[in-house]
Amino acid sequence: MGLPEYEVTAVDEVAGQVRIKVRFKGRVSCPHCEGTKLRLKDRRVRRPRHESWGMRRCFLELETRKWRCDSCGRSFWQRFPGILPRLRASEPFRRSVCQKHFDGISRSRLGKREALSSATVERWFGWYLRLLSGEKTSTECPRILGIDEHFFTRRQGYATTFCDLKNHKIHDVVLGRSEASLEGYLHRLAGKDRVEMVCMDLAAGYRALVKKHFPKARIVADRFHVIRIVNHHFMASWKEIDPEGSKHRGLISLMRRHRHNLSPDQHQKLSAYLKEKPVLELIYRFKQRLCYLLKEKHHNQKKCRQLAGRFLRDIAFLRDSGLAQLVQLGNTLHSWREEIACMWRFTRNNGITEGFHTKMEVLQRQAYGFRNFNNYRLRV
Ligand SMILES: [Zn+2]
Repeated sequence: MGLPEYEVTAVDEVAGQVRIKVRFKGRVSCPHCEGTKLRLKDRRVRRPRHESWGMRRCFLELETRKWRCDSCGRSFWQRFPGILPRLRASEPFRRSVCQKHFDGISRSRLGKREALSSATVERWFGWYLRLLSGEKTSTECPRILGIDEHFFTRRQGYATTFCDLKNHKIHDVVLGRSEASLEGYLHRLAGKDRVEMVCMDLAAGYRALVKKHFPKARIVADRFHVIRIVNHHFMASWKEIDPEGSKHRGLISLMRRHRHNLSPDQHQKLSAYLKEKPVLELIYRFKQRLCYLLKEKHHNQKKCRQLAGRFLRDIAFLRDSGLAQLVQLGNTLHSWREEIACMWRFTRNNGITEGFHTKMEVLQRQAYGFRNFNNYRLRV
């Protein structure tokens, strides 16, 4: 039955419903003083819903008694494990309904199938999620942390995800992405000294927060975002040099790619175009070199030192180039040079956090959007 300390005395089927008669075998004691000298006052039958048997709805039939305690003089109705007072469903049944809702069956469909109202399903689900979050073992800060923002609602704006990159788990979700809105949460957070590494995209606000609250942590930039920003500025600068050519769809796709992703045909096509524009060819070559430099990973200290030299020369080249977009890129890379250099030493990136964001979007779609951030957080 999924309940301890009960004995089944009879099972019969009435009008397509299974009725299980059960008897409680445990000892009865006063809930106020634990006394066992009791006198019987009244009796009544409870019929809570229980886990379905296949397609048939299932009810328990359980006699409950009212006792008077001789030690403290108070009266009480007998309590049962797994069937809470005044509830008309047993805990295994509530859990099974919540599990189905968790797996994606909408509450109205579930309500129709199980003869419950959708509001009941929602109320139970809140209880279930609080139960699950209570079972969560560790509340300490993870050693390797991923931080990223994601969109929540139009009214409440963005939320920030704190992700445990080592164990592939979400640590917490907090509403807001600005310093002011995260300050309170980070202030309360326990075990901040444990954090050794924080992975993030190129957001200056997060960097300032991390430096302030995780003094021992090393910040590592996310490779995907660094290469994306290089590509973005390069494409914008191409638009300034050749406004006509940069509208060509085929060329856009070729220019954006890494060199190793081009087929021989595509390579030829691109070379033919670049030959007409020597300045652009120079910039293109430079961008390819820079991207390959940024793709380097898990190197030792000596190799990293060489790479750092190359990287600093590249930044200097960008800042002296005289093209507005490239100068801007050079300045961005300059301000993040330490975090980017950490990418060569470590392999971690924020891909796990981004993957969780996809799952969180699915949750939002399943629920047809959340209004209450606490419900959303609990669900995540
Ligand atoms: Zn008592």
